[in-house]
Amino acid sequence: DRLVTAAADGEDQAVEAALRPRLLDEFIGQERVREQLSLVLQAARQRGTAPDHVLLSGPPGLGKTTLSMIIAAELGAPIRITSGPAIQHAGDLAAILSSLAEGEVLFLDEIHRMSRPAEEMLYMAMEDFRVDVIVGKGPGATAIPLELPPFTLVGATTRAGLLPPPLRDRFGFTGHMEFYAPAELERVVHRSAALLDVRIDPAAAAEIAGRSRGTPRIANRLLRRVRDYAQVRHDGAVTAEIAARALDVYEVDARGLDRLDRAVLDALLRLFGGGPVGLSTLAVAVGEEAETVEEVAEPFLVREGLLARTPRGRIATAAAWRHLGLVPPAQPGR
Ligand code: ATP
Repeated sequence: DRLVTAAADGEDQAVEAALRPRLLDEFIGQERVREQLSLVLQAARQRGTAPDHVLLSGPPGLGKTTLSMIIAAELGAPIRITSGPAIQHAGDLAAILSSLAEGEVLFLDEIHRMSRPAEEMLYMAMEDFRVDVIVGKGPGATAIPLELPPFTLVGATTRAGLLPPPLRDRFGFTGHMEFYAPAELERVVHRSAALLDVRIDPAAAAEIAGRSRGTPRIANRLLRRVRDYAQVRHDGAVTAEIAARALDVYEVDARGLDRLDRAVLDALLRLFGGGPVGLSTLAVAVGEEAETVEEVAEPFLVREGLLARTPRGRIATAAAWRHLGLVPPAQPGR
């Protein structure tokens, strides 16, 4: 339930559909992936065939689901959406595959979390548009081959490296999604504000963008909290000052750190002089489980260059001292 988590919560799911760009031209940022994808799609359209299977890799909340819907829309094809964890048995996958229409896009989120037998069935389906459905059990079991209509698989994964090579190799194109630049997130905020009928000035959009950790899903969520504040405490219009005050209420600071992130940095700097300090000691100092500190707080602190993991323990960088408004010792982190 953190405001700055990149994973979708219930409210996100309810409003995200309304905020999704529908076509490639409306999709902000990710210039490289967009250009590559537009070539793949245009070529397939010209040839009148289903395009190669597409793998989208990157952290949550950057627009993989959105892009898969855009792929279908650009092809004028229907789309079926499912996820790796939802496919536990090969039979689940066979049922989905055999009901696809010709040219349909199948979006498989978290494709690295599919079961092994389903994965093996997918290899054949991707390559030959065919599956073997096993009927019966034991020695009497028989494989019934089933022809599939040509379809396009769009797989999404947080890390392409997690996929077994035979699966990875069956994708004709892999798009690597990157965190968004602040200027791109500003455009996301402006676009969403217009759709939500929120009046917002450019400095306010920049304020929200700067706190959104490179992630459109977080930008949209912060915008909604700022909208609440502007509506309840003011006349609904969002200025930079109102945006900053609203996000201060929710303890999301100017760089997108929340209470937990700051508590970790604060302990590292004030109690341990910037480190090095072991993970478990640091976790005790902030009253959290070691896993929470390691998996929830640290990745963003490392990405931001505020904290480093070393063999001797965690150390703070000079930027961490500056961010908390403290003066680093002569040799920070030593
Ligand atoms: P997850 O893997 O966690 O489901 P995701 O990468 O599939 O995340 P999406 O659900 O596609 O992310 O996007 C999250 C939200 O961010 C959506 O509401 C979408 O409208 C918005 N969004 C993502 N990318 C863009 C973009 N390039 N331009 C505008 N809005 C975007």
